[in-house]
Amino acid sequence: MQRVERNPQDFGRVLSSMCTRPHPAARDAAERFLATNPGDPGTYETVASLERRAVDLLGGVVGLPDVAGYVASGGTEANIQAVRIARNRFETDTRTPNVVVPQHAHFSFWKAADVLGVELRTAPLSDYTANLEAVKEQIDEDTVAVVGVAGSTEYGRVDDIPALADLADDVGALCHVDAAWGGFVLPFTSFDWNFASADIDTMTIDPHKLGQAAVPAGGLLARGPELLDELAIDTPYLESTSQVTLTGTRSGAGVASAVAAMEALWPDGYREQYYESQADAEWLTAKLRARGFDVVPPVLPIVAADMPDRLMDTLRDRGWRLSRTGRDEARVVLMPHVDRAMLREFVDDIDEVFAE
Ligand code: PLP
Repeated sequence: MQRVERNPQDFGRVLSSMCTRPHPAARDAAERFLATNPGDPGTYETVASLERRAVDLLGGVVGLPDVAGYVASGGTEANIQAVRIARNRFETDTRTPNVVVPQHAHFSFWKAADVLGVELRTAPLSDYTANLEAVKEQIDEDTVAVVGVAGSTEYGRVDDIPALADLADDVGALCHVDAAWGGFVLPFTSFDWNFASADIDTMTIDPHKLGQAAVPAGGLLARGPELLDELAIDTPYLESTSQVTLTGTRSGAGVASAVAAMEALWPDGYREQYYESQADAEWLTAKLRARGFDVVPPVLPIVAADMPDRLMDTLRDRGWRLSRTGRDEARVVLMPHVDRAMLREFVDDIDEVFAE
């Protein structure tokens, strides 16, 4: 059979990705700043000032106007760096620091633990979110951070962040929130806590996911510059004197496109998109249930449905890109490129496969 090459820019049947078609202004900005390096701010001053603007705009999204932070390569780097902040802040010679995460935490925390030599303690969930009692049981005097997930990768579920922040505070640990995917929709939901109302220390929020910026544009935010300073390394041969990022040279494309996307979309564009995607998630849930599938109720716009392997394989042959949860459900992420017309086509294809 002849292999059909996909256009790598075509999101036509992609239901599995947490990235999306960038906003047109974000795409233009990415192209213009492709050859700049915010890792060397003394040389590339324009993109360095755009990075400050990006962090200010992210501050608006998370309710802390003078938030500290930088544009990372993605959620993985931001999570690794958040764990590094916590480890460095409480470094002792005698004990192994530990970080407590709910079981649905992204696998980047396992990378962080491996690279940084911290112990990762996982706490079981109840009803797809962190079980607070279980988290509490894992915390002790060597806990340097407690992590909450705000928009879990598989099911889009949101932990009780204010409660987790209190648990962290009780032992003097930091509270890190992984809102890599959910960060740009949370302000429009009932999960309307933010840096201003909860005792959060650091947060991951990725413009290259629901922020509609081009890849690579992740976001690491910290309540104050002293937390970011835990990451500072001297940079003798650059014009600037220190660097907090994990990567050295990095593309200015992500920085510029994050600014362009947020200037175009915050808050009205993101709000409208969220309402549309959430309505589509509920529409798809109803259609799938009507066809006999078990569906996990979508709290944010991700739908997970129990589908037989053969159906998944046939849909893949028809060009649909679906991923699986750890429990083998088919997972549909309702990113901005996924609209009702595309979902109708998807459901029609399911009906056709059943009729064959
Ligand atoms: N955190 C969450 C909740 C995610 O869903 C993801 C990716 O899907 C990440 C972190 C990692 O982000 P990235 O792939 O941009 O490194």
